[in-house]
Amino acid sequence: MNPLQNTGSPELVSPFSGLGLHEQIVDAVSRAGYTTPTAVQAAAIPAALLGDDLMVSSATGSGKTASFVLPTLQRLVANPGRPAPGRGPRALFLSPTRELSLQITKACETYGRTLRWLRVASVVGGMPYGAQLRALRGSLDVLIATPGRLLDLLTSGRVTLASVETFVLDEADRMLDMGFIEDIEAIANAIPRSRQTLLFSATLGGKVGDLAGNLMRTPRRIEIATPPAATKAITQRLHWADGRVHKDKLLDRLLADPTIDQAVVFTSTQRDAERLAESLQADGHAVSALHGGMPQGLRSRTLSALRQRRLRVLVATDVAARGIDVPTITHVINYGLPIQVEDYVHRIGRTGRAGRSGLAVTLAEHAEVRTIRRIERFTDAKIPVSTLEGLEPRQTHRPGSGHGEERRRGHGYRPGGPAARKQGAAHRDARPHEGYRKNATRGRQGGN
Ligand code: AMP
Repeated sequence: MNPLQNTGSPELVSPFSGLGLHEQIVDAVSRAGYTTPTAVQAAAIPAALLGDDLMVSSATGSGKTASFVLPTLQRLVANPGRPAPGRGPRALFLSPTRELSLQITKACETYGRTLRWLRVASVVGGMPYGAQLRALRGSLDVLIATPGRLLDLLTSGRVTLASVETFVLDEADRMLDMGFIEDIEAIANAIPRSRQTLLFSATLGGKVGDLAGNLMRTPRRIEIATPPAATKAITQRLHWADGRVHKDKLLDRLLADPTIDQAVVFTSTQRDAERLAESLQADGHAVSALHGGMPQGLRSRTLSALRQRRLRVLVATDVAARGIDVPTITHVINYGLPIQVEDYVHRIGRTGRAGRSGLAVTLAEHAEVRTIRRIERFTDAKIPVSTLEGLEPRQTHRPGSGHGEERRRGHGYRPGGPAARKQGAAHRDARPHEGYRKNATRGRQGGN
């Protein structure tokens, strides 16, 4: 036998150690229950460990968080030594929303649980400054932040980024959509050029490509062609509804399904989320609303009620629901269609988490056929149409049809419909919460 051959049982050798990760980190990954790296992890981790700048296209639920957290931890382990208290972090992760930031913070704690010395902090909008400032004054390895709050602290001299070696932009496309471009560039200018920059985004072209050109040094592009494992586990269905009353009946029937463990029902506006949660509660459901207009304390309590399974149904808007990672969500129901088609993908990604299967049901009124076709073009797949016995729609649509439908039909006002979107733009959930800080001086017009 070749003396160099590994004679240990192959099951005992984690494929994560083959990626070049330190055994303490591999140990934490195994304790998290992961046996095999996902496609994005297998491609991005070794490349990041080489020190290259990376642009990575990755979908929701693909395991991308570990793709940047693990190599960052590895760098900290390989070159120990933390900046002095108040000298800022060695790694900075920027993410668009506080929910996502808190999710990443949790991931750092999970993947870094064997590194007792590790100090992680987050600074995000909408939370009190006190605890965040205290964390910044101490010694710090990793800082997770939303751009608005971080820039606030940077310009007021309460944080320095002079020690940052690894700079990660998560969901870069989303941050740009939210109007954070100038904040991101100002933040990047405060970080030494010698840094390693890792950018993750659903798309790599257009504005994201321009941003990468400004912030990165000849980045390597990593594009994951195969759909993420988690998305494959999501079954999609479409029900056509003749109108609001029909849609409510479909929702009632769907929520009576005993196979639902927990469900997220999406609406297009905050007002719809409030109203629908109230009416479902009146029907006896364990339900709560979650939207950007709610105070942060209440949002956090709602999310922990969901995690503790005190809620069966969450009625949410897009921004508020981003980053929710609750494996017991078995169903996503699109009661109001997303305003941006890519949010469809983010929405359905709330189910089918952590290798489980999930069902994503979309309820669409006939007048919304064009939005459905846009979603199908964006995801490059038809959403199979389905009916419920006794609740069949009067009208059906041929796949691919849709031209002129919205012009011919649906002129009346419906909450969440196209007319409402125009009238009620101030109530949309499509703006970043932190936008308020800037808008506040001009007078606030509503909420997200
Ligand atoms: P992310 O795309 O980073 O939000 O991860 C999506 C989900 O996949 C999270 O619930 C992770 O905990 C889980 N996950 C990440 N990496 C793996 C892996 N290698 N094996 C199994 N689950 C994973």
